[in-house]
Amino acid sequence: MSYVFTPPATVAVPVLGRPEQFPVNRVYCVGRNYVEHAKEMGFTGREPPFFFLKPANAVVVVPAGQTGSVPYPTLTKDYHHEIELVVCIGKGGRNIKAADARAHIFGYAVGLDMTRRDLQGEAKKLGRPWDIGKGFDQSAPIGPITPAAAAGDIDKADIWLTVNGADRQRSNVAKLIWNIGEIIEYLSAAWELAPGDLIYSGTPEGVAAVVRGDTLKGGVTGLESLSVKVA
Ligand code: MN
Repeated sequence: MSYVFTPPATVAVPVLGRPEQFPVNRVYCVGRNYVEHAKEMGFTGREPPFFFLKPANAVVVVPAGQTGSVPYPTLTKDYHHEIELVVCIGKGGRNIKAADARAHIFGYAVGLDMTRRDLQGEAKKLGRPWDIGKGFDQSAPIGPITPAAAAGDIDKADIWLTVNGADRQRSNVAKLIWNIGEIIEYLSAAWELAPGDLIYSGTPEGVAAVVRGDTLKGGVTGLESLSVKVA
């Protein structure tokens, strides 16, 4: 096979304790999946789950122990952090029941759903797609993947984010409105999930703007933490 130009490289995330990397297929994100975050965005938190996607090449891989770099994006004056637990699919399927979801999960990672909040807000107001607010270049930083068996009790893990050392977001995965199994059940009814799919599971309350020079440090108990500087 030859191509009319060199195909883009596969985006791949390191896996703790393994030499092989995790090749990224699609990037799903769950909207408003913690009640207190839904409220801060002006909603009740009692709606069915909904999803949006980011392109795979929006993923910024940050190796263990390093601080990654993301450029302050164009077009925005309100660039927000959203710390999220990322579920990494290792085995695909459609119409997966919540009770069977674990068998499809390869592992977990800490991610940031970076958001051009002003552009997202404008899109919401006009009934337009969210892509320009959510799916822009380098909008999905992620740390290394911890295999599921080594991740501990992820359903009760603390999740947090600091900016320049100050607390910004702090919650617990137990507060997800739609838990990991339910997310996979809903998603796999709408799409056939495939190995390499990432699911950003939603952010807790405390989202806010960052500026150039800020350092974001995020974590989920049991997983490798994520550190990113805004350049
Ligand atoms: Mn989000």
